[in-house]
Amino acid sequence: MRMLALACILSPVLAWGQGTSVLDAGIAEIRDQVRYVPEKALVQLQKMESAARSAPPATKAEFLAQLSSARVKLGQKDIALQLAEELIAFGRAQGNTSILAKGLLTKAYTVSAMTDAKSAHELAFEAEKLANQTQDIPLRVQATITSGQSYAEQGNFPVALLKLQTAVETARQLDDLLPLASALNALASLYDRMKEYDKGWAVLEEAVQAAEKLNSPGRIAQARQTEYVLAMDSEQPRRALAALQSALEVARKMGAKGLIADTLVNMSDNYLKERDYQRVVRYASESLAVAREIGDATTEAVALINIGQAYMGMGKTAEGKKNFEAGMAFYEKTNNKPELQAVLLEYGQALERAGDFQGAISAYHRERDITSALFEKQRQKAIWELQEKYEMEKKQRRIELLSRENQVKSAEIDNRRLQQRVWWLLALVFALAATVVGLLYRKVRHANAQLEVKNLELKAQSSLDPLTSLYNRRHFQEYMRAHNCVERRGTGGEDIVGALFLLDVDHFKHINDTYGHAAGDIVLKMIAENLRVALRETDMIVRWGGEEFLAFLPAIPRNGVDEVARRILTTISSQQIEYQNHTFSVNVSVGFAPFPLIPADTPLPWERAVNLVDMALYLAKAHGRNRAYGVRGFDNFKDTSMEAIEQDLERAWRAGFVDLSVVLGGTPDGTPPAGAHGSNVVPLKSAFKAGN
Ligand code: GH3
Ligand code: MG
Ligand code: MG
Repeated sequence: MRMLALACILSPVLAWGQGTSVLDAGIAEIRDQVRYVPEKALVQLQKMESAARSAPPATKAEFLAQLSSARVKLGQKDIALQLAEELIAFGRAQGNTSILAKGLLTKAYTVSAMTDAKSAHELAFEAEKLANQTQDIPLRVQATITSGQSYAEQGNFPVALLKLQTAVETARQLDDLLPLASALNALASLYDRMKEYDKGWAVLEEAVQAAEKLNSPGRIAQARQTEYVLAMDSEQPRRALAALQSALEVARKMGAKGLIADTLVNMSDNYLKERDYQRVVRYASESLAVAREIGDATTEAVALINIGQAYMGMGKTAEGKKNFEAGMAFYEKTNNKPELQAVLLEYGQALERAGDFQGAISAYHRERDITSALFEKQRQKAIWELQEKYEMEKKQRRIELLSRENQVKSAEIDNRRLQQRVWWLLALVFALAATVVGLLYRKVRHANAQLEVKNLELKAQSSLDPLTSLYNRRHFQEYMRAHNCVERRGTGGEDIVGALFLLDVDHFKHINDTYGHAAGDIVLKMIAENLRVALRETDMIVRWGGEEFLAFLPAIPRNGVDEVARRILTTISSQQIEYQNHTFSVNVSVGFAPFPLIPADTPLPWERAVNLVDMALYLAKAHGRNRAYGVRGFDNFKDTSMEAIEQDLERAWRAGFVDLSVVLGGTPDGTPPAGAHGSNVVPLKSAFKAGN
């Protein structure tokens, strides 16, 4: 059974730091002892404990690491674990990466001894990562060796090789040969397991030289162990045996129980090859006892397997199987697949030799499963690595694609933002324009309304006389043009007609001349007021000219026309005008006629009617003023013409073609003029006719 080098895997190689104090030197001195004769080292370490615990951090850390290692070697794994944890906590508290890495390594060795390979490997990898962040070269070498050995245990030989080669190269930088010896020994063991025996031998030769230069019996014994394994595997049994005997001799001289146990189990292995089963059992049993004493589970397992092999070789199959299975349980527990596979292969061969073919087949099947699992695991790992790489590339490409898409999108977003801004601006401009237009529209509407009011005012102004506020002549003309005035009948059968009255102030020039133009104006205003009082609201009163007024009554009984003329005369003449201490009154003369006037069949146009009335007014003036002459109608019209009448109203009247009535105004004291019998209305037609 070729398991011997295993005993060296993950064994601590602490305390290579250059001593800076007596204490450091003391710790450095016993570092080999810790490894090979821990019980002696423990006594020494306990002596320096109080001093070391109050020493500078680096010294204290090295001390704790060595103490933990000694406890592991003595099988006191719980105490060792406590010390490792203390060291880790100390490193964290100090914020010291070197100390933390050392603590993790120390813990890795402890949990490895506790057969928790998985945790040991993780701790080793973490410790290596941290150690490589420091300038502590010995620590880096130690961590790299431990990491490399962990990869080897996982069956990952390529990485393990890389790590151990790095460890060797790094160790060459140091004056201290111990790290180099350790790294070389580990590398030689790996070459053996990789079946690269030539390389293994070359490295081993250098390891032996380093160990001899160091004058370290422990290292020499360890190198011999490796030599044995290499010799066995490369089919050199004599050399193997010689190496073993040499190692055993050194170990016994040192009193190094761990080494003795390892060497003894390898002696048993050697005799297995010789089929000297008695010796196998003897050496293996001796090894088993020592291994159990120092709590070396690995050596114990190898010893059990070798004993099992021997029993089977002797034909004691049941006993053999029992021991074999007990040994194999360790590998199963630690899940050390490469070793388990090797053991199963040997187990199968042993069972085959013992004639237990069924057992052999079962062992081979298990071995095959592990092999394929191992292979599968490695293949899987390679695939994962490839996939990871591929995924990374894919991710990278996606990231690039996304970032490009992002660029395009952000450009689009910028564009959209710009567009939005333009739209907002347009909307704002539009809103402003709408507001301005609205305001302007309102202003225009307001102006229009004002204009309309002004127009109305203007129109009113243009149709009103400013002095008297009566309608002016133009308004009347427009009115008459627009209205077709026709004769109407009253409800009671009486004759309802329109009527025109034209007034002229008598001797107005005299008033102006006597009292002044302002007094004349006052008189004009008084007349306007009194015409409003004397007439109805529906009647149209017009300032016809300077001191001439016209009244148009749209509806009045025919026989009431004279009465209106009389009322006009008396209303005005009865007014006393007070002006600058003067009191006076005025009379008016009036010409009037019903409207329309219809001489034959067709009514006279209003202009001709007004003209006739004006002629009647002229008659009133001519016949004494302060009186009203009205044209009532026409007689024998077939014997004359309208033109003839218009040419001389008086003559037409005297000829009997026109029927006139005269209304006399009152005297200044308000009484009717003399000769007016009870009424101041005098029908003139018959009188003049009679006179003629
Ligand atoms: P008659 O009885 O014949 O009508 O005599 P009269 O003085 O009224 O004669 P006439 O009609 O020729 O004169 C009218 C005068 O009225 C002439 C003018 O000076 C005056 N007059 C015309 N308009 C106004 C006015 O608005 N105010 C004033 N104060 N006088 C006016
Ligand atoms: Mg006049
Ligand atoms: Mg006059």
